[in-house]
Amino acid sequence: MTDIQKVDIRSLSLTQLKEAFVQKGDKAFRGQQVYEWLWKKSAIDFDAMSNINLETRNWLKEKFVIQAIKVEDKQVSNDGTIKSGFRLHDGFLVEGVLIPADDRMTACVSSQVGCSLTCKFCATGTMERMRNLTPDEIYDQVVLIKGWAMQHYGKPLTNIVFMGMGEPLLNYANVLKGIEKITSPEGLGMSSDRITVSTAGISKMIKKLADDGVKFNLALSLHAANDIKRDQIMPINESNNLKAVGEALKYFCNKTGKRVTFEYIAFNNFNESLKDAKELLDFSKQIPCKVNIIEYNPTGDGKFEKADSKKIDQFCAYLERNGIIARVRRSRGKDIDAACGQLANKKHDEALVNE
Ligand code: SAH
Repeated sequence: MTDIQKVDIRSLSLTQLKEAFVQKGDKAFRGQQVYEWLWKKSAIDFDAMSNINLETRNWLKEKFVIQAIKVEDKQVSNDGTIKSGFRLHDGFLVEGVLIPADDRMTACVSSQVGCSLTCKFCATGTMERMRNLTPDEIYDQVVLIKGWAMQHYGKPLTNIVFMGMGEPLLNYANVLKGIEKITSPEGLGMSSDRITVSTAGISKMIKKLADDGVKFNLALSLHAANDIKRDQIMPINESNNLKAVGEALKYFCNKTGKRVTFEYIAFNNFNESLKDAKELLDFSKQIPCKVNIIEYNPTGDGKFEKADSKKIDQFCAYLERNGIIARVRRSRGKDIDAACGQLANKKHDEALVNE
C-alpha cells in the first residue's frame, strides 16, 4: 500500500483502534496500548512502540501512517521567545511560538493554515485560508513546543493560547478534539484552566462553546468598542457586531461561570483616546471580563502605528479606576516576527537555528 492509501492512525478513536485489532485477530487490549503510545507518549514512529512486537508493528506500518508535523526551522528571539514553522504532511506551513516568562511557559498555537477573516492589522489576515488543522496537528504543536520549554529552559509547559494563525472557532470541532487530546488523562493531561482560545468574535460559536460546557478560557479580540471603528479594522464585525458578540459572551459567562478576556490593541490615533476608553468601559461593564491592552506589533505595511506608551498607561488607568481589571501587555518576540499578528510564514535567515 502506498502512503496515500493508508489511514492516518490518529484519526481513529480508541474504540475504532481496538476494533481494528480485533478484526486482525488480535486482542482489543493491543489497540489500547497503541492508543497510549500515540496520545500519552506522543509517539510518531511505530518502531518506538517498544511493548508492541515486531510482527504487529509491521502490520501497523503496512496499514497506517502517522502524519506528524515537522519542525521546518526554529528561531530564538533576543527575549527568549522561540518561533517555528511547522511543515504539515501535505506541504503547508503554520507557525507556533513558545513564550517564556518567570512564572510560566506559554505555547501559542495555530488552528488553521492562513485565515479567512482579513483583520486589517494582522499579518496572517493577508494570507488566504487554505485549510483547517486536524486535531493531531494541533496536538503536535503543543508536544513540540512543550519539548522546547524543557530543552531550552528546563521547565514544563504551563499555558496554551490559540493565538497563532487562524480563527479557532471557524475550526470548532477539530480545535475541541485537539484540546481533548491535550487535556485528557489518556493524552497530555494538561489543565483546561491553562488553555485560552482567542476569537475575533463568532457569536454563534461562542454560544455553542457555552452549550458544550467547555472548561477552557475564552478571549475576544475586541480592539474597538464601537461598531463603526471595529468594522474598519475587523470585517467580521459586519456580520457579528458588538451587540451580537456581547450577548453571546454574556450567555457564555452565565453558563460557564467564567470571566472572559478582552484583547485590545492600542493603535496610534485610532482607538486610544479617552472617548474610546469610555466606550470600552461601557462594553466591559456588561460582561464579567478583564482587559489586556496590547502593544501593536508592526506587520510591515505601515497602515497602523503603535500608540504612545503614556497614552496606553492612561487608558489602562482609566479602566482600572472605573472597576475593570486591565493590564498592559508588552509584546514579545518582535525581532523574529513571532509576536501576535506577525505570523505569516515570513522566512528569516538570520537567527535561524537548526533543530
Ligand atoms: N483569530 C483569533 C486568534 C488569532 S489572533 C483572534 O482573532 O483572536 C491572536 C491575537 O493577536 C488577537 O488578539 C489579535 O487581534 C492579535 N493581533 C493580531 N495582529 C496583531 C498585531 N499586529 N499586533 C498585536 N496584536 C495583534
